[in-house]
Amino acid sequence: LLRSLLNKKAPLQLGRMCYSSSSSPTTKLFIDGKFVESNTSEWIEIHNPATNVVVGRVPKATQEEMLAAVDSCSRAFKSWSETSILSRQQIFLRYQQLIKDNIKELSKMITLEQGKTLADAEGDVFRGLQVVEHACSITSLMLGETLPSITKDMDTYTYRLPIGVCAGIAPFNFPAMIPLWMFPIGMVCGNTYLMKPSERVPGCTMLLAKMLQDAGAPDGTLNIIHGQHAAVNFICDHPAIKAISFVGSNQAGEYIYERGSKNGKRVQSNMGAKNHGVVMPDANKENTINQLVGAAFGAAGQRCMALSTAIFVGESRDWLPELVERSKSLCVNAGDQPGADVGPLISPEAKNRVESLIQSGVEEGAKLLLDGRKVNVKGYENGNFVGPTILGKVTPEMTCYKEEIFGPVLVVLEADSLDEAISLINRNPYGNGTAIFTTNGATARKYTHEVDVGQIGVNVPIPVPLPMFSFTGSRGSFRGDTNFYGKQGIQFYTQVKTVTSQWKAEDATVTSPAVTMPT
Ligand code: NAD
Repeated sequence: LLRSLLNKKAPLQLGRMCYSSSSSPTTKLFIDGKFVESNTSEWIEIHNPATNVVVGRVPKATQEEMLAAVDSCSRAFKSWSETSILSRQQIFLRYQQLIKDNIKELSKMITLEQGKTLADAEGDVFRGLQVVEHACSITSLMLGETLPSITKDMDTYTYRLPIGVCAGIAPFNFPAMIPLWMFPIGMVCGNTYLMKPSERVPGCTMLLAKMLQDAGAPDGTLNIIHGQHAAVNFICDHPAIKAISFVGSNQAGEYIYERGSKNGKRVQSNMGAKNHGVVMPDANKENTINQLVGAAFGAAGQRCMALSTAIFVGESRDWLPELVERSKSLCVNAGDQPGADVGPLISPEAKNRVESLIQSGVEEGAKLLLDGRKVNVKGYENGNFVGPTILGKVTPEMTCYKEEIFGPVLVVLEADSLDEAISLINRNPYGNGTAIFTTNGATARKYTHEVDVGQIGVNVPIPVPLPMFSFTGSRGSFRGDTNFYGKQGIQFYTQVKTVTSQWKAEDATVTSPAVTMPT
């Protein structure tokens, strides 16, 4: 099925393979179990970032279509929330197998729309697949608590119940992994789900929706709408939607958190980052340089956990020339080309923004150790490419340090001590991720205890937690109370009922009313 979706000779009534009167394929809406063409007059073009050729169009769903989608979720909730947990588990067991079987097809779609290399796109699917696999443990994850005999003949127990219709709003940079942080966990808990993928990369979510339908998810349990601000406002405002999961920029995330919360919804909002890698002089040099280069420039730096900032402590600053040489050796090319290490940025606007931030660094006094702005990718001259770039002698006042660049740019600072490095990181408003490179356990322990960042790697450059844990970005990188996936993800998508029950023997009758507070 997925092969035929990607093969233009065999169009199906689904997603990008269904053609409208326009020459570019249109992305469908998924409403009440059907992939349907939008009636909208407003469309957004989807470009291949390596060529800027239009590869599809995505609709801005109309109000009627969005209402139909949320109504479908509301109707389906009645039966889905009462469907046995074992049946829901079976659907997700089949789902994880379908994703596994089709990882190559999903990855091709990601590379086409998002630009990242095929190998990296497979990683994107794989990290989302792990969340689906974890969702299959729902029979343990949703267990409540019991305390028998809290007083004579009286027991208290809790159970976790779904909360209703939930909604997800996703960014462009992980077209598989991030939607898979959202609807599988929400749905396996018994909620129904309204998904709004990024308008720049909707294709992968459509394939994932078809697979979930094939795995047996009943009509209406997952609905998909497309669009930008109007779709986001609709989700923030519709009273049937009880919870919103958002991942993306601070600008959007803070707005959605405020508007959704004001409307009485639960909101979890994962946002931007500025992740620092601290290089101690006792670190394993070879490992550290390779890890820094991979984590700064992989996915063209378009990862919220990219190590975009390095702090060289003491004499480790002498390693900079080797870091520059290693970075130069990366191959910048279209994501589907053999040997590509660094693909294009998502759009010409993103390329301009990244290039102007590099220029701001130069003008504000940083030292341009490697300049990727003039990179020439043969055969892809119209693509949004920027090669690996390194700015040295950066200070915290510079714009290139203060802003999230979200491109293949490593900014390098220097510190005389670990304390100085920690203090610098703790003054930065973001708290998504960080890493320290050292061979000293006491140094690593001090760092993990004192640095005020939610996800820390010790000799691990991109410490994204596996799904039995939660994604615990903090401070300016997160708004909300409970994080994505893991135990916290289950808490976010469930509410607790606590039952206190008394079963007395027949002869132990209550003989008079008790008017004082029961103790
Ligand atoms: P984005 O905020 O532009 O878009 C994310 C979603 O919000 C999209 O679905 C989009 O349609 C919608 N949106 C965009 N602007 C909006 C606005 N002004 N009002 C309401 N809705 C809006 O983000 P992006 O460019 O797609 O993704 C990149 C950002 O996401 C980076 O800042 C990155 O750090 C962040 N990110 C964070 C995490 C994390 O877990 N912390 C993970 C991935 C990406």
